[in-house]
Amino acid sequence: MKTAIYDILMSGRNPDEAFSDARFFALCISHRAMAPKGNISMALGLEIRQLSHLFSRYFPRIEASRSTAQCTKVYLHNAAGGTFLCQCLGKENKGSMRNEETGDLVKLLLDHRASVNQATEWVAAILAAGCLGDDHLWQDLGLTNREDLSDIIKHHFPGLYFKNTGNMKWKKFFYKQLCDQAEVRLCQAPSCNVCNDYAQCFGPEDASGWNLLAAQG
Ligand code: SF4
Repeated sequence: MKTAIYDILMSGRNPDEAFSDARFFALCISHRAMAPKGNISMALGLEIRQLSHLFSRYFPRIEASRSTAQCTKVYLHNAAGGTFLCQCLGKENKGSMRNEETGDLVKLLLDHRASVNQATEWVAAILAAGCLGDDHLWQDLGLTNREDLSDIIKHHFPGLYFKNTGNMKWKKFFYKQLCDQAEVRLCQAPSCNVCNDYAQCFGPEDASGWNLLAAQG
């Protein structure tokens, strides 16, 4: 079903917008659409009006045919030929986002953006929300591999991309930047080269068996 939702989104994408951005948004939206509970815009780190704007700009056919009164997940599953039993019982999930943390991450990203535009702000919000997950960032976002994530960071936040000269895991790298900015030193070792936690910060971010098709529910 995840792939079907991705396909529905991409089949109606706006050809005037960058394919790479549309693909990133479609992967993230289709991934979040599979969660049994929770507001999809909140899971993406976007306000409801921002998600509507994103749909209008990148997936206009979807935005034109959906009702804003309807759960976005229910709509996407129906549009993809499936059904989704919403478990929110009609209540919008207002669960506590770690607002301060995501705000700091968004600021870090936007401080390194290539240009000022809404798409970059949406990408920053989605990346920051993804950092609240427990797996590799690219997995929590629903991307197909680490390269997807590196590519989108390079495109929208080149200052950060080129700063990660040691190829540190992206989530670790973002938080290390925040610690460095706040002059907080959490590392036990004097340098990465002699650190016992090296593998946690720089180890491979692969996951056997994880890909878009395998991850469909
Ligand atoms: S490898 Fe060790 S010293 Fe380097 S960032 Fe990670 S925890 Fe800090």
